Amino acid sequence: MRLSRRESEYLKEMLKLEERGIPVVGPSHFSSIYGISRASAQRVLNDLHSKNLLVHHRRKGYSLSDEGRTIALYLFRRHRILEYALWKAGVPVSDACELAARMESALTREDTERLWCVVGRPMRCPCGHIIPEVE
Ligand SMILES: [Zn+2]
Repeated sequence: MRLSRRESEYLKEMLKLEERGIPVVGPSHFSSIYGISRASAQRVLNDLHSKNLLVHHRRKGYSLSDEGRTIALYLFRRHRILEYALWKAGVPVSDACELAARMESALTREDTERLWCVVGRPMRCPCGHIIPEVE
């Protein structure tokens, strides 16, 4: 599935919120964290909903669908594996996250898994976050 960088960011943010016990959010959350209008945030939520990645809760907001959650986990996995590989290649931890963010969308799932094997199947990224397992 093709996702824009912004759509990917929304899914990752929603998974972080879900892990903190906030499974349902609306456009005002995204308009405040990204400094955009509520209408722009709503458009991204509509797009994600039309791709069946979000579940709509009338008058409350949106939560991740099972597929949306699986994709969000994969996005974290891909980012952290690439971050780890860059760090192994000598990039300082402080730069690895930003560099990974610019490169990650070029990696297919196959590339991601191949890279994970090559760098020794790490369980955590260099800053200590768990690299989630995805089916
Ligand atoms: Zn990290």
